[in-house]
Amino acid sequence: MTDFATHADAIAPGFIEKRPLQRYVAPTKPSLVGSSRAALAEALSGIGVPERQRRMRVQQIWHWLYVRGAQSFDEMTTLSKDLRAALAQHFTLARPQVAAEQISVDGTRKWLLQLPGEIDGRPHEVECVYIPEADRGTLCISSQVGCTLNCTFCHTGTQRLVRNLTAEEIASQVVLARDGLDDWHRESAGSGEPEKRQVSNIVMMGMGEPLYNFEAVRDGLNVVADGEGLSISKRRITLSTSGVVPQISRAGTEIGVMLAVSLHAVTDDVRNALVPLNRKYPLAELLEACRNYPGLSNARRVTFEYVMLRGINDSLADARALVRLIKGIPAKINLIPFNPWPGSKYECSDWSQIEKFSEIVFNAGYASPVRTPRGRDILAACGQLKSASEKLSAPERLALRAMALTD
Ligand code: SAH
Ligand code: SF4
Repeated sequence: MTDFATHADAIAPGFIEKRPLQRYVAPTKPSLVGSSRAALAEALSGIGVPERQRRMRVQQIWHWLYVRGAQSFDEMTTLSKDLRAALAQHFTLARPQVAAEQISVDGTRKWLLQLPGEIDGRPHEVECVYIPEADRGTLCISSQVGCTLNCTFCHTGTQRLVRNLTAEEIASQVVLARDGLDDWHRESAGSGEPEKRQVSNIVMMGMGEPLYNFEAVRDGLNVVADGEGLSISKRRITLSTSGVVPQISRAGTEIGVMLAVSLHAVTDDVRNALVPLNRKYPLAELLEACRNYPGLSNARRVTFEYVMLRGINDSLADARALVRLIKGIPAKINLIPFNPWPGSKYECSDWSQIEKFSEIVFNAGYASPVRTPRGRDILAACGQLKSASEKLSAPERLALRAMALTD
């Protein structure tokens, strides 16, 4: 997760706009990108590939799609010319359309993606953010267009437009990032050494509540984690939920990725005000579900996210209560400085307060990193660019667009 910068930053100079805003063009044929093995087999059956050949063809196409990053059927040289032609006649290898790409001075990249579907003449949009660090590269992906949950400190929750992403759209975000970062397997790379990948970790912390789109998230992440394809191990994939208690154990058994929970408060009163879903699934139930998360151990801890809001949840008594609350759960705490947005009613805690809070948690034996703001100059917080452009008046939007078109 990156920084949720303010609107003022949206028109601050300093970022590099690599690709200006593009007009959305609806796809004509279905894309195979993001498909599971079963969906590929079905596609092959639909164009008349005999059953006895399908398994092998699926394996071959899988390799081209998810190891080599093929962008055209012509590249798939292990397939016959006839099959390549038949595939091209019925399908594409289109990725989600990149409406804009921005690169921060700190190397963080943000893609604004347009997906099929439209409301009031605007295509459906989500964001995908890449955050490079010394020892890893993390891709923050989205699960829904907008979010139905209305957490009071979150900009995404104020967006009107909501739809679930398909499994293919979820996996495609990783494909698209590998394209953009030139991060595909090269034949020449093979020297026995494991390849160093730019995208090594995935966090599902973009737009949307992943456990409200369970099946698509499960199927999409299974494509991402497949060891013969995109190959990002489940230990390097983290799913963040605001606390959809009945789905948490299922997430452990059916998806098996690392769990992050947006806790943000230590009493039901405060959490009800911040995360309205808490009225349905209160703290005690949420913590019980975390305690029982399948596969939890000291090597596979749950991450509790805690947004630091001045005067709301940041007292030292809150820090001590937090430690008591999670006692016995193998956990780490991720303290997130609040990132304000236009119209938000909260302020970020003082830095000294965040440090004192973090110290109490750390001294109780929990790792308590404070998430450093990244990509501030490009509003790299998931949901931010879309929100910024959607909520501005028409003249403001024009000014932002003009800015985006200037290098
Ligand atoms: N819907 C999921 C995942 C997306 S949000 C969830 O809520 O967990 C990813 C994280 O960013 C969550 O912990 C969320 O609470 C936090 N977040 C949202 N708005 C924020 C803001 N303005 N400042 C800081 N963190 C924020
Ligand atoms: Fe939705 Fe998460 Fe934002 Fe809450 S914090 S509104 S669940 S995206």
